[in-house]
Amino acid sequence: MTSNWLIGMIALFVATLLPSTIRADEWHYPTPAPNGVINEPERWGGQCETGRRQSPIDLTYQAAVKGDFAPFLFSNYMNPIRNAQLTNTGHSIQIDNTDPSVTLYGGGLPGKFVLDQMHFHWGSEHTIAGVRYGLELHMVHHDSRYNSLTEAAAVKNAVAVIGVLFHVSNQDNTHMDVVLETSQDIRDAAGKSAPLKGKLSPHNLLPKNRTSYFRYEGSLTTPTCAESVIWTVFTESLPVSLDQVELFKTIHDPSGHELVINFRSLQPLNARALVYHTDMDYSGSGAIPKLSLTLIVAAIAALLAK
Ligand SMILES: [Zn+2]
Repeated sequence: MTSNWLIGMIALFVATLLPSTIRADEWHYPTPAPNGVINEPERWGGQCETGRRQSPIDLTYQAAVKGDFAPFLFSNYMNPIRNAQLTNTGHSIQIDNTDPSVTLYGGGLPGKFVLDQMHFHWGSEHTIAGVRYGLELHMVHHDSRYNSLTEAAAVKNAVAVIGVLFHVSNQDNTHMDVVLETSQDIRDAAGKSAPLKGKLSPHNLLPKNRTSYFRYEGSLTTPTCAESVIWTVFTESLPVSLDQVELFKTIHDPSGHELVINFRSLQPLNARALVYHTDMDYSGSGAIPKLSLTLIVAAIAALLAK
């Protein structure tokens, strides 16, 4: 009688405990089959499945229309991130920025955007003409008219994410060393943070060419998949070595398994406009950047004036 009562009480206790332990953020990426192919899509529910403006997408020149926007202005991206911490979120590794002076303007964005955090996906989420890259860095920003990323995520076009692609090269990307060295301290535990073992300036993770990019309106690529994001994906990729990519794959997920991949499956473009922006002038026989052409004209004019 006493033991039955005890079992009953334990069962009741466990039953009341269960719903609260299954938290909204307990979602995962599908595990690839032994041949590396992902056979099942992620099933994250809600807007992730019903949305019509989801990310990532395949970026193709054929599907794109030409855009012409003001240049991007990256303010204080040269400064190393203050009190930088690297966190294993269970779905990625992330560096938070708490300095509100690290901001992004221009590039056709509707205002000033503040850098919140940077995180990585291994394999890239966006593909260019069907080609997947080794890594994709996301620099996540919120519109300065809102107090936080959480607040902005509920509003269309109030979040701006810069996507930087990394191609596999035979040379290490030295700017990535500080991230990967620190990542070994937080590798085994989701939720764990560690101070970055050196300086990291966001500028060092941006490509030189910041005028060639794809632009479209989409969503966060993790639950809740909120459709509040203005996406910019630069076409110039940065190098990363195979050894460095392999280190990302040793990060553990919340269930203690290696996070082998953390990219979401490609989503349909549907009725959205995909914009391709470039400053290259294709009118001549070769592609000459507008700026160089202007400089050449100026130099000739200067010579003639002598
Ligand atoms: Zn991301």
